[in-house]
Amino acid sequence: MSIITPIGNTVLLHVCCGVCLGWPVQKLRDEGYCVVGYFFNPNISSEEEYSKRLGAAKKMAKTLEIELIEGEFLHNEWLKAIAGFESEKEGGKRCEICFRIRLEETFKKAEELGLKKITTTLTVSPHKDFDVVSTVGKGISEKRFLPVDFKKEDGSKKTRDLAKRNNIYFQNYCGCEFSFR
Ligand code: SF4
Repeated sequence: MSIITPIGNTVLLHVCCGVCLGWPVQKLRDEGYCVVGYFFNPNISSEEEYSKRLGAAKKMAKTLEIELIEGEFLHNEWLKAIAGFESEKEGGKRCEICFRIRLEETFKKAEELGLKKITTTLTVSPHKDFDVVSTVGKGISEKRFLPVDFKKEDGSKKTRDLAKRNNIYFQNYCGCEFSFR
């Protein structure tokens, strides 16, 4: 499928996995946006896990009828970027760097596509602090980052329910080998 013609109300949505995709797309559509997904997650611990999550995101994107663009899987570069913070607890400095890496790349992709707004499915997770994600996004571009806390309005449950109904793969850890441990 080719990239849609960029229009003013199209948002490039960073997609972390298939489970987290459903409700954010519905919410953005309710707000009047068109959505294009971007799967860029170099944090994922192995190629095998990466393939499972990408496959789940593609399946959900097809159900939702949105275009999903795949980024590169650059795990070694990600490991270099978080070096020194491996033993941080989930939610600490390593995660902040991880959000920044993923959102910076999403902004680059949006620039390439001529899309003005970006946001992320990350905020639908009850384990992700909206203020941290939002500060990172706005720090890259206050004007272009759309700060939506998708976990509001019972969003975490809604997205899980949508994923269950569509038989989407559920992962049981955040993504990197340090969260697995
Ligand atoms: S725990 Fe999750 S958000 Fe934090 S660094 Fe690992 S993959 Fe990234």
